[in-house]
Amino acid sequence: MIALAIHGGAGTMARRKMTSAFAARYEKALGRALDAGFETLKNGTSLDAVCAAVVELEDNALFNAGRGACYNTDEKHELDAAVMDGATRRAGAVAAVSRIRNPVLAARAVMERSRHVLLVGRGAERFAHEHGVRMAPPSYFATRSRLLALRRRVAGHHGTVGAVALDGDGRLAAATSTGGYTGKLPGRVGDSPLIGAGTYADELCAVSGTGLGEAFIRTVLAHDVSARMRYRRKKLATASGGALAGIAALGADGGLIAVDRRGNIAMPFNSEGMYRGAIDRRGRRTIAIY
Ligand code: ASP
Repeated sequence: MIALAIHGGAGTMARRKMTSAFAARYEKALGRALDAGFETLKNGTSLDAVCAAVVELEDNALFNAGRGACYNTDEKHELDAAVMDGATRRAGAVAAVSRIRNPVLAARAVMERSRHVLLVGRGAERFAHEHGVRMAPPSYFATRSRLLALRRRVAGHHGTVGAVALDGDGRLAAATSTGGYTGKLPGRVGDSPLIGAGTYADELCAVSGTGLGEAFIRTVLAHDVSARMRYRRKKLATASGGALAGIAALGADGGLIAVDRRGNIAMPFNSEGMYRGAIDRRGRRTIAIY
């Protein structure tokens, strides 16, 4: 049994401005990432699948990760990403990097090729470069629409990307990648690269979050989903909803995607929308925004 879910960020989607052509672009992009992940998952591991899906989303300028990421107040990009392999609880992450084309692949390199879990800034970039991860000039990440968003102080959808998967060997994995949000302070690190906050996987579930990162950090949201399953014996959907209520109680919005070892999928959000897609254990395919 295999299952995969992806997200392209939660937040305010400006429903009025979301023309059907615009929505169709997002749906197409989500579909492509879903297919890339699912093709990999058919014969590969859940770890390979979540990375394949996230790379696809990082490469697409529609999403706030990799190319097309948000700008900080210095009009620069600082990207965060993490991966976690549930079966072994190995994890890797990078934060505040500006020259790594696909931060999720650097996170994976940290996990597989270092003794560490999290590397930041220049050290992370040097490590990635030394381990053959593709680099990019800072200009690669630039997009006009995100720059205008900063200059006009537009609050929009968060746009982080993530994936969670269950593979044929029953192993769960999660990956998340983000540019944070428009107008963040230089040096700010969000929840996405923090294991247990925005990204988490163990033998019970795999979780990737999107939303106001500070709230996800304060509620240790991704791990909270697993804790509710482990200690309170809740099902995935109830545990995910309960964990999300934690950020809502702090006045924050966002969403998460999660999968358990039976291939159940949960994708709750308390924002206006969340770009998301899934192929469940029965092979049913969903792509949705609202
Ligand atoms: N959670 C991300 C962060 O705070 C932002 C997002 O999901 O849109 O860095």
